Amino acid sequence: MTPLDVYKKLPSNNCGRCPAGTCMSFAVRFLRRMIASSECPELDEQSKKEIDAMLSDAGDWKEKRLIELFSEVFQINFPGVAKGIGAVSEEDVLKIRYMGKEVTLRRSGFADQMGIWDRLLILMYIKQAGKSRLSGKWVAFRDLKDGLIRAESFHGACEISLAKMFEHFREGFLRRLSAMGAEKVEGFPAEQSFVIYPLPKIPFLVLLRSGDEDFGADCKVLLDSTAAEFLDVEALLYLGMAFVRAMK
Ligand code: SF4
Repeated sequence: MTPLDVYKKLPSNNCGRCPAGTCMSFAVRFLRRMIASSECPELDEQSKKEIDAMLSDAGDWKEKRLIELFSEVFQINFPGVAKGIGAVSEEDVLKIRYMGKEVTLRRSGFADQMGIWDRLLILMYIKQAGKSRLSGKWVAFRDLKDGLIRAESFHGACEISLAKMFEHFREGFLRRLSAMGAEKVEGFPAEQSFVIYPLPKIPFLVLLRSGDEDFGADCKVLLDSTAAEFLDVEALLYLGMAFVRAMK
């Protein structure tokens, strides 16, 4: 699927009424999931369905889920959910911190270039629209609601990966944590402890211990006991994996 394929389905009059400004720009952004078919007021309902189907046919399940989530999230009243999820709403724009950076979501899509998993996670977080206050009680992944099902995966994909990075690239690892806004904390049974917020209401407590001649380095990642109210455990596992990717 190329932008030209999408372009051929558009009115091609470059009327400038969509955020993309021109039909070709719209086609490019549409394929990058940065703009929705509903943003072209010149398209009738049938044409919208046709270009959505092009995207859907071309994509794998993640892309299909992304399209569904976009249309679900765009029905949400941003000011109504912003405070609960720790975001800021300005008119039709939602600003949210993700992996230490501010990300902007407009009705027309994300203003920032991000990988598909990052966009999925942010949209799932907004859609879940959690409201709880953080409890301040740190728990292991397995102690979250339904956490036992994915606890081993979280350990393998997140904790073991972080421990290896800490062991082999210690200075770079600590610099990267700091660049992502991690705060060093004391009073935990670890050599070094940090709190970092991959999403505003989902802090991770990262506990690190160096290895010795018998054992390799160790990492435990604890979550606030309310975490599953903001993302289900499946998505929390992917958030842990996204954190590992962001640390690389
Ligand atoms: S609103 Fe539609 S017709 Fe007008 S420039 Fe954008 S894509 Fe083209």
